[in-house]
This record gives sequence, structure tokens and C-alpha cells, in this order.
Amino acid sequence: MHGIAAKLQPAERMARLGTESAFEVLARAEALKRRGKDIINLGIGQPDFKTPPHIVEAAAKALRDGHHGYTPAAGIPQVREAVAAYISRQHGVEVAPERILIMPGGKVTMFFAILMFGEPGAEILYPNPGFPIYESVIRFSGATPVPIALLEKTGFAFDAEAVLAQITPRTRLIIVNSPANPTGGVVPRAEIDKLATGLARYPQVAILSDEIYHRLLFDGREHATFFRYPELADRLVVLDGWSKTYAMTGWRLGWSVWPKSLAEQAERLSINCHSCVNASAQWAGIAALEGPQDSVEVMRSAFSERRRIIVDGLNALPGVSCVEPGGAFYAFPNVTGTGKDARALQDLFLNGAGVATIAGTAFGAHGEGYLRFSYANSAANIQEALGRIGRALS
Ligand code: PLP
Repeated sequence: MHGIAAKLQPAERMARLGTESAFEVLARAEALKRRGKDIINLGIGQPDFKTPPHIVEAAAKALRDGHHGYTPAAGIPQVREAVAAYISRQHGVEVAPERILIMPGGKVTMFFAILMFGEPGAEILYPNPGFPIYESVIRFSGATPVPIALLEKTGFAFDAEAVLAQITPRTRLIIVNSPANPTGGVVPRAEIDKLATGLARYPQVAILSDEIYHRLLFDGREHATFFRYPELADRLVVLDGWSKTYAMTGWRLGWSVWPKSLAEQAERLSINCHSCVNASAQWAGIAALEGPQDSVEVMRSAFSERRRIIVDGLNALPGVSCVEPGGAFYAFPNVTGTGKDARALQDLFLNGAGVATIAGTAFGAHGEGYLRFSYANSAANIQEALGRIGRALS
């Protein structure tokens, strides 16, 4: 017997929520694989390495030792202390553990920071092309997204003066991501310095600095962290975590540093949302930060080699040109010379060549004319993928 058809009324804000195409492409690639197609996935942004064994063992031990219950919402104190010590070693800055919150992944910090400041009438500046969740959650919050255009001619960095010129009395938050997804771009220290200095004129503006790729820099580049500006500490949110550095994307573990005045509110968001992070993952997080770091360098130098292969390979393709990315594990070639738009190429490469990539438009309007290749895959697979897309293009 049929009942009355449901007439649900989801909140209006649900229509404003975007998505991250990488997960859709992953699903399509997996579906093709199940049908027997040989797919090389250069779509999803995760290291192809396994989590180092001493980290896995720390989680297993935590479970054997009975760490099965809730933890404090902000994280186990030892993890917050381990993160504070890591920040001190890595960035040379002392951060009180009370300002550090342990999160189920880096993404949650972004969601909370944007919800903290976003509402109708507010403006939030965000990188475009950029990680798609920034614009999605800004819209979801009701705030107006104001794109910071990242252009190929500047290596996908920004000009600080141009960013400062976009600030209005309604601006609440500026999001910076360097090294960046999807471009691999790195903002030069001089521009970060200029932005930090210029922000003194706008005390109402908070900064969300997404530094999740800070250990993945090439050619001797040093990370320009926002922690270096003590004058910004009372309005700086830093997003970081274990996912990319320790090949732990599936563990769902991240951390954020909040201004002292906002840490308690951020913790409340955690209590309302997820209560706390998986206890055994938190113990693994300590082992990652305090244990041997050689695997981080092994992965970084592997990415560096693969970057060479993919950038040279892309530049050899007809109609394609690729600037050298300074960090992360993405190449973002200009494909306008192929005469096809980004989405058509994404489909051609997936369906015609068995290579998953992501159209630049998935990262914002300024991504038209580009494709994102994640080179977190083996050198052999990257070579094979380049051969296949070369044949698809000709
Ligand atoms: N920030 C950027 C720029 C990213 O690219 C990603 C993941 O791809 C994240 C944050 C989220 O990381 P996590 O998997 O820890 O949530």
C-alpha cells in the first residue's frame, strides 16, 4: 500500500551547499574499475603511501590498552601538548596547548572557522582556484564569497596589495592556503609579510591559514607560516593535521590553533558536532609527531621526483602547458590550447583513457582552462597515464 508522498522541506541553506568533486570522480573511477576498466587515479589528493608502521602500532596499542571511550572534546591533553611541541620545533613559535583543538581531519577546522564568522551580510575572501569546500561552506553560512584570484602568471600565488584592496567593512575572514590545493602554488614569504603587515589596518578581519601541506615543499623552499606574526595571534586560525604529512587521510585526524578568545567557542562546535575524535587515532597522532620523521622526507622526495616526471610530461603534450608547482602534490596545467574545456577533458581522460583527473572548474570559476593532476601515484603509473592522455589528445 502506498502512503502519501512525502513533501519534505529541507532548509534553504542546503541548496547553497557545494561539494568536493574529487570524491565524485573517485566514485566514478571506482565504478569503472568494478566494471573491469583499468583506471589510473590522478584525481584524489591523498598520498599513495601507507601510514608508517610505528604510528599504526601506537593506535593498536591504544586499543589493546583500553582507550575505547570518549576523550575530552578538545582532544587528549597529551596530544594537544605534542602538537604544541611540534609547532615549537617546526615553526619556532610557542603556542599554549589550550589554543589547540584536535579535530576529525583538517576539513572540520575549515567548517568551524567559516561558520564562526560567516553569516548574511558578511564577506569572506578565499582562494580561487582553491579547495572547493571554502566557497561551499561560505555560501552555506550565508556569507558572500569574495574570490582571491590566483593566476598562473604569478605561479598561482597572490599579490598582497590586491588582496588588501578587496577588504571592505563587511570583510570578516581571509582564507589563505599555501602550499595550495589544487595548484601546488606557494605564496612567497614577501607577499605573506606584506599581507600580515597590511592587516594591521583591518583589526576586524580574522585569518584562516590552511597549512596542511606545510611539509611538502620543493627545491629548498621554506614554509612561510602565519605563526610568524605575533601581532596576528589574537585573530589567527591555523588549520593543519596529519593527513598529508603522515599519509593518514583515512584516520580522520587534524588539529587547529585558535585565538585564545575563540578556542572555547570552537570547542563548543566540536561538542555539538562530533563530541571528540577517535581515541586510538589520537594516540597514533602522538606517535606520528614524536616518532621518527624519516618517512616524511621519503615521501617528500618521492613526490619531488614525480613532480619532475609529470611537469615535463604535461609540457610535452600538444596544447598543454604546466608551470612548476612549488609544493603539495598537484600539477595544474593550462589546457586551453587543446581547444576543449576542462570538464570535457576530464570526461575524455576518464572514459577514453582510463585516467582520473579533475576539471579546474571544480575549484572555482578561475579554474576554467586548467585540470588538476594529483601526482600522489607511482612514477610508473604517472608515465603510463601521460602516455594514455597523449594518445587521447591526438
Ligand atoms: N585543506 C586542503 C587545502 C586540502 O587539500 C585538504 C584535503 O585535501 C584539507 C584541508 C583536508 O584535509 P583532511 O583530509 O585532513 O580533512
